[in-house]
Amino acid sequence: MSDTPVVVLFRQDLRLIDNPALHAAAQTGQPALPVFIWHPFGDDWPLGTARRWWLRKSLLSLQDQLRKAGSKLLLFKGDPATVLEHVCHDHDARQVFLNRRYDPSGREADQDLKESLEDRGITCSEYGATLLFEPWNMGTKKDGSPFKVFTPFYNAVLERLEPVPPIPATVNLATPETWPQSLSLDDFEDLPATPPDGHHWDAFWEPGEKNALKRVGGFLDEAIEEYPELRDRPDLDLTSRFSSYLANGEISLRMIQQALMEKFNCAHPADLPEAAAGFYRELIWREFGYHLLYHFPHTDTEPLNPKYADFPWVSNYEKELQAWKRGQTGYPLVDAGMRQLNSTGWMHNRVRMVVASFLTKHLLIPWQEGAKYFWETLIDADLASNSLNWQWAAGSGADAAPYWRIFNPTRQAERFDPDGVYIVKWCPELNRLPKKAFFAPWTASALVLERAHLKLGKDYPEPIIDHNDARERALAAYEMIRR
Ligand code: FAD
Repeated sequence: MSDTPVVVLFRQDLRLIDNPALHAAAQTGQPALPVFIWHPFGDDWPLGTARRWWLRKSLLSLQDQLRKAGSKLLLFKGDPATVLEHVCHDHDARQVFLNRRYDPSGREADQDLKESLEDRGITCSEYGATLLFEPWNMGTKKDGSPFKVFTPFYNAVLERLEPVPPIPATVNLATPETWPQSLSLDDFEDLPATPPDGHHWDAFWEPGEKNALKRVGGFLDEAIEEYPELRDRPDLDLTSRFSSYLANGEISLRMIQQALMEKFNCAHPADLPEAAAGFYRELIWREFGYHLLYHFPHTDTEPLNPKYADFPWVSNYEKELQAWKRGQTGYPLVDAGMRQLNSTGWMHNRVRMVVASFLTKHLLIPWQEGAKYFWETLIDADLASNSLNWQWAAGSGADAAPYWRIFNPTRQAERFDPDGVYIVKWCPELNRLPKKAFFAPWTASALVLERAHLKLGKDYPEPIIDHNDARERALAAYEMIRR
């Protein structure tokens, strides 16, 4: 066994459990240098502030775990290829271990990184840590092309999957005699230690691998049985909230899958009882998003269905876009959702669907604007899931919502927030209205509004657009494309 160190590069895999690159590095028995390199503008999609706040906390937690395991997280800034070349050169390391990325610019950057290291005689060993299937191993439709519809994809997953248990925590890393100089997290000025004014991320989130595990245990013990029935209710908040842990790789899909199978005592996800199967299916939507982004790498910015390249979006929309972003459209469910996003960095899935439909169908604003804003503000921003879902909402993507399905935000509120609890939590100015006016304040009589001390247009906006007019306009636009 050699004393030459090996390097492990952490990116979207900030965990010790089920981390194949870390595990493989430990298996060499050589001293391991765990490295994180901050390269904020290296990719086409630089992280938004919420994800950068999370990342800092997540790195703190990883530092702590590695310290407890007798090792250390080495922090650097700059171009990863240059940093790694220096570290390898200074410490005579000849092997780098890393887990793959799947987004188009990450893949391209990793290919360049690999080539540049290999040119210097350094081998780069890559592993899959994010998905159940590498996208090129997922199989295809009968005609040999990649899946574009979810249900056949899901069935293929269940058919092909041989569940692999997660790798136990890697805590046996050999250490070098001398450690390289490392930066401190305080040197990363653009990873904020506290949320900016008006954001309350610290009241809602506890980043880090240990908290991810706690969350999985809590959800499986307390909420999963009710999930299928109540998952669409933003007022009850019964979903798992695993998404930000997954986005930062503090937990893997294999770990969640294993926990589900253990809890329900089955050997394969296809045998999960109905309650758990409904939840598992949602996890596979994420896998589907990665599959699509891998095979159709242009779909983070361009429609999957090429017909939609000619969609007649409106062109002057800055005022409406700002109203949507700020939660000032006059439609309470839409506004509540956008305010939840702006405050907590997260929004309930049902409400994400409603606000996305509102932007693309009521306001006819290009889906790319919404996807960009979500990317910048979501604490769970994930390029694959975000692109998949925005395209779904706009009708241009895989398994897309049919063009004639235009959510009525008032009906959606009545159905999924029946007591208006979610609406008044995020739009407290509506609190004094009688319940039935929560969903559509513009329908309340002058007397009711006066009693509630609510002036529409002043304390809360008038609807930015009439629902029926918007629906007609959207249908006409979609009809043009359909033809
Ligand atoms: P749960 O309901 O508990 O679901 C469990 C897990 O399943 C989630 O953590 C997620 O990994 C996966 N999942 C659930 N629904 C979906 C879905 N529709 N698509 C893909 N995966 C899903 N999710 C992100 O992680 N990042 C995003 O950037 C993102 N952008 C979205 C944009 C729009 C317009 C819409 C409609 C949805 C978006 N989603 C995104 C999907 C979904 O809203 C979130 O994954 C979910 O709300 C996260 O909360 P949860 O973990 O409590 O979900």
